[in-house]
Amino acid sequence: MTPPKKRIAILGSTGSIGQQTLDIVRANPDRLQVEVLTAQNNADLLIEQAIAFEPNAVVVGEEKYKYVKEALQKHDIKVFTGADALCQVVQMETVDIVLAAIVGFAGLRSTIAAIEAGKPIALANKETLVVAGALVTALAKEKGVNIYPVDSEHSAIFQCLAGEFHNKIEKIYLTASGGPFRGKDTKFLSSVTKAEALKHPNWSMGAKITIDSATMMNKGLEIIEAGWLFGLKPEQIEVIIHPQSIIHSLVQFEDGSIKAQMGLPDMKLPIQYALFYPQRIASTFKRFDFAAYPSLTFEKPDMQTFPAIQLAYEAMKKGGNLPCVLNAANEIAVGAFLNDEIRFNDIPAVVEKCMNKVNYIATPSLPDYIASDTEARKEAQSLTKKKISL
Ligand code: NAD
Ligand code: MG
Repeated sequence: MTPPKKRIAILGSTGSIGQQTLDIVRANPDRLQVEVLTAQNNADLLIEQAIAFEPNAVVVGEEKYKYVKEALQKHDIKVFTGADALCQVVQMETVDIVLAAIVGFAGLRSTIAAIEAGKPIALANKETLVVAGALVTALAKEKGVNIYPVDSEHSAIFQCLAGEFHNKIEKIYLTASGGPFRGKDTKFLSSVTKAEALKHPNWSMGAKITIDSATMMNKGLEIIEAGWLFGLKPEQIEVIIHPQSIIHSLVQFEDGSIKAQMGLPDMKLPIQYALFYPQRIASTFKRFDFAAYPSLTFEKPDMQTFPAIQLAYEAMKKGGNLPCVLNAANEIAVGAFLNDEIRFNDIPAVVEKCMNKVNYIATPSLPDYIASDTEARKEAQSLTKKKISL
């Protein structure tokens, strides 16, 4: 007997992860059904997706609401707008799983709302755990909700842990490609352009995470994300540069044994694993060819040139609202860099200054996180406007 279709809400369906999730739905029409699609600005793509997948509801940013509503009026699809609507659609009875792929702090509230309604989460939006990991993981535990990682490194760790849940993790290694500026020095980084920073060697992703990969802040965010997902201390998490992006991460157990998960870099694999866990579904994804990769190499990260990793360790160690401040300052600094307002090296500098400036709160509530996010954004904005220099 075929199991019933999983009805999925895709938050951020027009993004890189959202579109790849829809590719998986297209390849598995008997297993998946789209219940909700959401996007902020890309109305035309959202309309196209809605017509193709016929969800029950879509949510779009306010500026595009009228346009989308008119375009879909002949279809049996509800159209909503606003942050509250995002929180409501994920709670609908007809939603079986929520794929959280909004970028940044903007994804926090809807993910919390989904957990509150007891919906399993396939989590791409790492910022949710960076900002409010304590609150989100406690709520998930209380509601008995599973959070399945979509981030490739965390999916790799999760896959390595299959059958090992009673065995203690000694440490994990998060692999990083090193981004487009691996091996460069601070002087070189001071003059890199937006176009250079947006050229990731191995992955095609949204603009924000691509810049985060170039500064290595992405790995910093992933350290904090891994801490919450797997209950690890900062000293149990090590970053290792692996330029080929074939080994997606590793777990070292107490007997010294290391398990790694590997494959070609393709986000569809971790997305699909999160959606169907614990089952592995047959796929036509390109297979790995050992002859094409005669050597897989590893090196230590250069934390002097890429201070973002250290900032993340510091935020994780001090905890409280500091990771939230780091995240907010980073979002503003990345936006300013993409707007040609600041230089590449100013990104971690803005983050560090904000971490030192914003008031520390040891055990923040959700309103505290929201206030810290706002305060850090304001501080970061004033720094980027002043064009601070290193
Ligand atoms: P993206 O920029 O391509 O897409 C972001 C999506 O979020 C879009 O659909 C956009 O409409 C929506 N969105 C943006 N701002 C919003 C707002 N204020 N309110 C509501 N919706 C909003 O980003 P992406 O690369 O798909 O990444 C999404 C998330 O997944 C990020 O948290 C990223 O760190 C994580 N992630 C991405 C990859 C990847 O390969 N792209 C890998 C690992 C993790
Ligand atoms: Mg990742």
